[in-house]
Amino acid sequence: MKMNGMNIKAKIALTIGVLVSMIVLLVALSVANLQILTATEPDSPAAGPGLNRALIWITVIGGICILIGIGMLIKLPASINSPIKQLADGILEIANHNYDVTLNLKGGEELVEVSKNFNRMARRLNEYHNSTLSDLMASKRYMETIINSINEPIIGLDNEMNILFINHEALNVLNLKRENVIRKSAQEIAMSNDLLRRLVRGLIEEGGKVKKEPLKIYADNKESYFQVKYMDITMPGKDGVTMEKRGNVVLLKNITEFQELDTAKTTFISTISHELKTPISAIMMSLQLLEDKRVGHLNPEQEELSNSIRENSERLLSITGELLNMTQVESGKLQLKPKITKPIELIEYAIKANRVQAEKFGIQIEVEYPEDKIGKLFVDSEKIAWVLTNLLSNAIRYSSENSRVIIGARQVNGNKEIEMYVRDFGKGIDPRYHNSIFEHYFRVPGTKVQGSGLGLSISRDFVEAHGGTLTVESEIGKGSCFTLRLKA
Ligand code: ADP
Repeated sequence: MKMNGMNIKAKIALTIGVLVSMIVLLVALSVANLQILTATEPDSPAAGPGLNRALIWITVIGGICILIGIGMLIKLPASINSPIKQLADGILEIANHNYDVTLNLKGGEELVEVSKNFNRMARRLNEYHNSTLSDLMASKRYMETIINSINEPIIGLDNEMNILFINHEALNVLNLKRENVIRKSAQEIAMSNDLLRRLVRGLIEEGGKVKKEPLKIYADNKESYFQVKYMDITMPGKDGVTMEKRGNVVLLKNITEFQELDTAKTTFISTISHELKTPISAIMMSLQLLEDKRVGHLNPEQEELSNSIRENSERLLSITGELLNMTQVESGKLQLKPKITKPIELIEYAIKANRVQAEKFGIQIEVEYPEDKIGKLFVDSEKIAWVLTNLLSNAIRYSSENSRVIIGARQVNGNKEIEMYVRDFGKGIDPRYHNSIFEHYFRVPGTKVQGSGLGLSISRDFVEAHGGTLTVESEIGKGSCFTLRLKA
């Protein structure tokens, strides 16, 4: 009997039908035999063999019925289970993203229908998967092309510091091969790569910031300078609102060209200022001779002219001095010669250097110095004295005539540090400019007093070179206070 072409309901009905008809047949045969036996003469000679024949027939037919029944019972569950198993296997394949699977279920129209629908679904999924996959691959390639076409080194890292992407330029600068780094731990690679080690250390120490100091790299037989920028990669989290950090991007900007220009500028300024110092000193010496009464008397007009020459020569000398100081800091040639110094000595030096100017503007200089409470400093006294002189000169220049200026020192932070300050009651500085005034050449807009805009930037460099700080507190119309803090 061919069961494969039937549907499940028909199979069950047929099986039950066959079994019932066999039982009915068996009962009918038994009844017929019993009737034959009761109808014939039990004592007749034909009764014995007749009974035996009847028993043999009943046994044979009964046996066949039982075998057919067992066969059908075995075959029925198998013929139902087999397509279900095939279907389950197919679903499993789909779940494992194998969309090439096809089903060819046999055993009735419903199963053929199920196969057709299943195969159609698999085909659709395959098409969808191929299209999204190729879309994704295309956008990935597109992104990679963009990143590779940027000629500044870029490295992308996940939160575990595995390298997600890296462009050609970064591979070139780091002297690495793409296949050895993608999806590998940057920290592990850094163990055998000095430059990557510096970048990773920078990321751990100052993640999310621009590194102030440029990174010097020796590659292709020349020195290159890079500015390193660390950026966080943030994306919306599962809730679609909160931003989550997914990693970092390390950007290296090649600033070699600017660095070379800057060095050239520093060398130029340094040479010029140095060369100017000699003629200016010669002018001042000649002026001194001119003013000497032994050489001859100057009439009042000539005296006025010689005063003007002296003032301007002094100014020129101070500017060249400032420029030289700046170039020293910029070229990293600043050398400190520290020695034990009493703060009052530095204060007295600054007052002496500014006395003439203070008298000229009628400014009174007051000293706040609790002698017994102030410890000693271990500093390059020339440099710190220069800073105090410059701060005091500013305080005098930016104050109105006949006002007062305070210079002092105090012990702070549990006597571990010493602060020296210069306070004036002059025009004050707008809070907008409190940071900019420490930049090279910056002058508050509208400043009429002559100046170079270099004094405060050099002062801060000098103080920072000692590990100290130089800060300002100032309010427009009330005055300013510049404070330098150094280790006692
Ligand atoms: P310079 O005084 O030669 O211009 P500085 O670097 O010493 O250069 O000062 C930068 C600017 O900060 C000045 O041009 C001035 O505008 C402002 N400034 C500095 N000190 C004071 C002060 N005590 N009071 C008001 N403004 C000041």
